[in-house]
Amino acid sequence: MSTHVTIIGAGLGGLTLARVLHVHGIPSTVYEAEPSPEARAQGGLLDIRDYNGQLALRDAGLHDEFRALILEGRQATRVLSREGEVLLDLPDDGTGPHPEVPRGELRQLLLDSLPEGTVRWGHKVTGVRGLGGGRHEVAFADGTAVETELLVGADGAWSRVRPLLSGAIPEYTGVSFVETHLLDADTRHPESAKLVCDGSTMILAPGKGVLVHRERGRSLHTWVMLVRPRDWFDGIDFSDSDSASASALARIAGEFSDWAPQLTALVADGDTAPVPRHIHSLPAEHRWERVPGVTLLGDAAHLTAPNGEGANLALYDGAELGKAIAAHPGDVEGALAAYEREMFPRSAAAALEGVDLREMLGEETPYHLIRMFTE
Ligand SMILES: Cc1cc2nc3c(=O)[nH]c(=O)nc-3n(C[C@H](O)[C@H](O)[C@H](O)COP(=O)(O)OP(=O)(O)OC[C@H]3O[C@@H](n4cnc5c(N)ncnc54)[C@H](O)[C@@H]3O)c2cc1C
Repeated sequence: MSTHVTIIGAGLGGLTLARVLHVHGIPSTVYEAEPSPEARAQGGLLDIRDYNGQLALRDAGLHDEFRALILEGRQATRVLSREGEVLLDLPDDGTGPHPEVPRGELRQLLLDSLPEGTVRWGHKVTGVRGLGGGRHEVAFADGTAVETELLVGADGAWSRVRPLLSGAIPEYTGVSFVETHLLDADTRHPESAKLVCDGSTMILAPGKGVLVHRERGRSLHTWVMLVRPRDWFDGIDFSDSDSASASALARIAGEFSDWAPQLTALVADGDTAPVPRHIHSLPAEHRWERVPGVTLLGDAAHLTAPNGEGANLALYDGAELGKAIAAHPGDVEGALAAYEREMFPRSAAAALEGVDLREMLGEETPYHLIRMFTE
């Protein structure tokens, strides 16, 4: 009989693992803290890379379905100066290796590919303890608990499973993002819409930047990036009442008052309440000694500042772990050792060699970025 796999977290990594296990006829249960798939907007575009994320979707038997989600033209890249002048314009000719898909639609594709009941929503893990012999007890906020044969922490940055393996705690990188949307931009924000390309548009300066994605429909997704101490944001009310939103957007846009007004409008004219995302990371070479019956994947294992790899690595880890479990029937330790042996150097290399957010917002920006794209 197959080992039953218990997965904590229904993000892209945990769901890919569950799907690849299902493809191999191995049962799993995914426990997710959120009450339903719709509980939180899964917004944002992800470029899914041909050397990791797309390979995982092939292993999951979902590559054709993934291709149907691709938003045409979104691999275009534009870099603007703070005056609004175009410094770099790379059109999307449809042949690029990293097509963009909406994160929420990709997650839904994975959810729909699992047998009914695989994901148990509203199960927030509060603690995990070893029972010996590779077994663990997972406790939930509602007072219930389950015992596991093989436990996988796919529960993201603040993993509750990680302490079983490692004492590492994510540290603030010094950079925070603030997210907002300009809805129906071509009609409601035509000046801003004209500035940005069909894919990703970046305006960068030392210590701050704005990244805009054109999403499905005609909305623009603005990510403000600010190098600021964590407590700089504490004085801003990010609650979603109209008056708090207006004043938070004005406060954040004020950081760009020396930019052309049509660029500042990409922030100030946000139609949705701004959401702060304080960026944390684990040490680049985070690893642990083998502990029987448990492992981690995705951000739980190797959280980095956004560098375009995180979601792709989570998909890839999920697929690789699923295949390792399938390749070692009845040998949990063999499967976990094989998976970790490849995963540690893979994720360390991605963290060390990937785009460095602090460098992207460093003194040489945006010319450092332009060189990166043109070389
Ligand atoms: C601002 C920003 C932009 C990014 N942009 C990109 C990008 O363009 N490309 C890219 O590849 N990556 C990007 N990333 C990184 C990417 O989002 C992550 O690396 C990826 O989501 C990791 O997937 P995961 O499945 O490991 O974890 P997550 O997506 O975090 O999923 C973890 C799941 O576990 C659940 N969970 C958490 N705690 C518990 C608990 N106690 N009990 C039960 N369930 C729990 C959560 O609700 C969640 O559903 C970005 C990250 C940020 C912050």
